Amino acid sequence: MRVIELQANLRRCQRCLEAGYEIQGPPVFSGKAGARLMLVGQAPGRFDGDNADKPFSGTAGSRLFQWLAQAGWPEAEFRSKFYMTSITKCFPGTNKSGRGDRAPSRAEISLCSDWLEAEVTLIDPEVILPVGSLAIARFLGSGRRLVDVIGQRFQIEGRIVIPLPHPSGASSWTQYPENRPLLAAALTHLATVRRELAL
Ligand code: SF4
Repeated sequence: MRVIELQANLRRCQRCLEAGYEIQGPPVFSGKAGARLMLVGQAPGRFDGDNADKPFSGTAGSRLFQWLAQAGWPEAEFRSKFYMTSITKCFPGTNKSGRGDRAPSRAEISLCSDWLEAEVTLIDPEVILPVGSLAIARFLGSGRRLVDVIGQRFQIEGRIVIPLPHPSGASSWTQYPENRPLLAAALTHLATVRRELAL
């Protein structure tokens, strides 16, 4: 299967709706075949007209792109060169407190997992950036604490994996001063990989 065929099938996916889960489509992802880097988030934010097809287009995205700019990629360049997707591709709704988006459930993640497997297989990126705990668990295994993995560079199944914390304002991890050097180290790894691989 080619990437555009996979994406056409993915755009039609209604598995969660059919299974009675709260997730609201449409699926959000961007990028094309040949992308050498894949960023994998948790789930898209609220669907809102103009930016519906753009992963990380809200306030969390602004912060994420500030980080990526520190590593050397302006937002437009990053979006045009690389693949952006997530663990679940549809907006999961807001959480009970109303301060952020609901994390997708295990069942929803499971329903969506083979889409991500297919994306990774077909795109075959040299570098993967998992963003946030759920994406990090997918690539590094569950039960890893953010403080133990952020700021490190991994080699997994022939790919470079550099985990990043979730940039959402509802995520408290980045607010702790002791975690800032870990994030800075992660961005330094990113800048190094960008140079090494001429990404
Ligand atoms: S979250 Fe994934 S599995 Fe669920 S409807 Fe969206 S694309 Fe399909």
